[in-house]
Amino acid sequence: MSDPIRKIAIIGAGSVGATIAYACLIRGVGKSLALYDLNAEKVNAEVLDLNHGLQFVPMATLEGSSDLEICRGANIVVITAGAKQKPGQSRMDLAAANTAICRDLVPKLLAVAPDAILLMVTNPVDVITYVTLKLSGLPRNRVLGSGTVLDSSRFRFLLARRLKVAVQNVHAYIAGEHGDSEIPLWSSAHVGNIPLHEWAVAGHGKLTVRDRTEIFQNVKTAAQQVIAGKGATNYAIGLATARILEAMLHDENRVLPVSSLLENYHDISGVCLSVPCIVNHTGVEAPLLVPLNAAELAGLQNSADTIKQTIASLGF
Ligand code: NAD
Repeated sequence: MSDPIRKIAIIGAGSVGATIAYACLIRGVGKSLALYDLNAEKVNAEVLDLNHGLQFVPMATLEGSSDLEICRGANIVVITAGAKQKPGQSRMDLAAANTAICRDLVPKLLAVAPDAILLMVTNPVDVITYVTLKLSGLPRNRVLGSGTVLDSSRFRFLLARRLKVAVQNVHAYIAGEHGDSEIPLWSSAHVGNIPLHEWAVAGHGKLTVRDRTEIFQNVKTAAQQVIAGKGATNYAIGLATARILEAMLHDENRVLPVSSLLENYHDISGVCLSVPCIVNHTGVEAPLLVPLNAAELAGLQNSADTIKQTIASLGF
């Protein structure tokens, strides 16, 4: 396995950006990290705090600045800059403000890191991934979004807890928009090689229709639950993003539900959304053609239409 990617630049040192840096450091993802934010005081303080813990993590360096030069030569740029949801706001409500930030940032970033893969985290992440792909002119493999990696992790956690099995043995994806129109891929979900719809194990129960409804509803409202209590979500997205970065850095060919451009995917084209994809040192490969039942296909098409409407309203 090759390991050609070394420098990770993180744009935005807010709750999400700083936690991605922390997760990367403690997992040993990336030897060289750079954090950039318009707010010099904030970025300097976050970097100082993180650097004070360097003794306790695998060898790495971390630097920060309010000057974009800090990102020069980065192999991967993670974008977290921008407005976040306030209680009651949907992710789509952030589209115009965060697109304006990308319009300004993307050309400047490519000037200092022309060979970088761009990993979008800023919401609405599917819209922002599409907009960045168009603004950058980069090939599709080099622009991806964290997509439903986080939602799928929330889904697996809830399924694992209900069925009393380790979360690592649950294989189930949330696909589509990272947002209100996302869909659970129930038909292909399985636990330890047993299709979820056949799961009935003594002492571990089985999933009723009501369980399914509750679990999926819980996934969809998870961010709002966290935001209502502490104002932002940061730990799980930090870990999820570190995982995606690791897949690229270590050329893992790992299957992850990241957001990327779909072309003729179950007849869906011209939109970025999440379906399982292989992620490696080139970025994101073409999506895997996972089997979908009629309801899942209709749900995915609806999700694609929802994202397309917002993209069109932004003039892309
Ligand atoms: P935050 O307000 O804590 O931090 C945002 C940071 O961006 C601030 O420090 C701000 O100074 C900086 N910033 C703004 N414009 C900038 C620019 N042009 N250049 C550099 N820095 C700039 O917000 P947060 O909680 O860290 O959330 C950041 C984004 O991540 C939001 O859009 C949020 O919705 C999104 N998010 C996505 C996911 C996901 O799963 N994709 C999960 C959680 C949060």
